[in-house]
Amino acid sequence: MFDTGEIEETSSNTEVAWLLQTAGQIAKIRRDLTDTTRADVITALEVVKSASAATQAVATADLHTSRRAERAAKGLPKRQWDIGVASEIGLARRDSANKGGRHLGFARVLVDEMPNTLARLACGDLSEWRATVIVRDTFGLSREDRALVDRELCSDPATLRGKSDSQVSATARAAVVRIDAEALVRRASKAVGDRRVTSRPAPDTMAYLSALLPVKQAVCVHATLMRDSAAILGAGDERTKSQIMADLLVERVTGLSTATAVPVTVNVVLSDEALLGTGSEPAEVEGYGPVPTDLVIRWLHDDDAKNELRRLYANPETGALTAMESKSRGFPTGILRMTKFRDKICRTPWCGAPIRHGDHVRSVANGGDTTFDNSAGLCEACNYAKEADGWTTTPDKNQSGELHSYRITTPTGHHFRSTAPALPKPLPHHNIDIVDSWSVEDKLVQIIWAA
Ligand SMILES: [Zn+2]
Repeated sequence: MFDTGEIEETSSNTEVAWLLQTAGQIAKIRRDLTDTTRADVITALEVVKSASAATQAVATADLHTSRRAERAAKGLPKRQWDIGVASEIGLARRDSANKGGRHLGFARVLVDEMPNTLARLACGDLSEWRATVIVRDTFGLSREDRALVDRELCSDPATLRGKSDSQVSATARAAVVRIDAEALVRRASKAVGDRRVTSRPAPDTMAYLSALLPVKQAVCVHATLMRDSAAILGAGDERTKSQIMADLLVERVTGLSTATAVPVTVNVVLSDEALLGTGSEPAEVEGYGPVPTDLVIRWLHDDDAKNELRRLYANPETGALTAMESKSRGFPTGILRMTKFRDKICRTPWCGAPIRHGDHVRSVANGGDTTFDNSAGLCEACNYAKEADGWTTTPDKNQSGELHSYRITTPTGHHFRSTAPALPKPLPHHNIDIVDSWSVEDKLVQIIWAA
């Protein structure tokens, strides 16, 4: 076992030691080479990457098979055999549980259904991405039909030689249509099930709101915004067409008469210095990340918006969130909100997904308490994996003022430490009596102080 987040352990396994030694040698390859050799080195490294991807896929599928067999032997019900395996793969690859699931799916298909594609990957004829494209584009085919495409495309290395990513994709899709046109129809109806709305941060304190919709609906929404914004523009509005479309979208979704009247609950953590107008540390907006303090102050002065600002208390030395007042809220709600502020995103290393659950680090079944120290914000997948057979999480003995941390142990016995991020630091000697609640014009600004 080796490197696991902050916890270092050295593997005594020969294969792993050899791989790490080889990686070390690759990283130190000589630079005084001829240009011909340099080009050969670049090509050879592509082969190394492809071979690594193939071996990673095989090891992934084998780990999955072994985990299932172990759980079956224990007499666990079938629905529990796969739980947490995607998270194990994710952690081992220093990726999220979500990506771990995709790596696992890719590995399963290559190893079980597409041996020729796997072989082309292993010898460097295909890159990991091109192999992924073939797996992706044959989704929905039966095992037998997939094997047909696999043979057609990859049994002879000449078939895909010199083909670009998009040509590989086109060749795979053409084979799918020939073998099973119905598969494409099945994929289309599966795709409709994936419709969703998401948001992610954009530069300059903007954010993207994306909707994945069936094409008819997406075209209809866009055409409606185009048509109505054109009418508004025609009536002499000074905004650009794009601005009007964006405003219309917000107004219609929120049901408000103007886009700027959106009530902002600015769940923000900022330092005393920033609040007093002297500090340069950014404020931290829940669900977005750091924003300039000046912008938060401007939101508070927006005439149309009803704002609410909550302040949390962080330790002046370390930035650890130490407490938060929960006012009249119920105890668990207060803890959950504070946990979300402290953790910001899912606490599993490399995950990065939004928090969906407040979780007991030590489970209630094992005597864990419903306290702030025993809480962690997790995404749905990580929360699910944590409960799987063979997983344990152990709270660290955190001292007051230290960043909250705990230890995750996977069924393979690998350890990972999860440490909460630091928050903006307040003034070291703040006066608790300064304000309790503060009114800017008629906006309610709740400054919540906690001892
Ligand atoms: Zn997660």
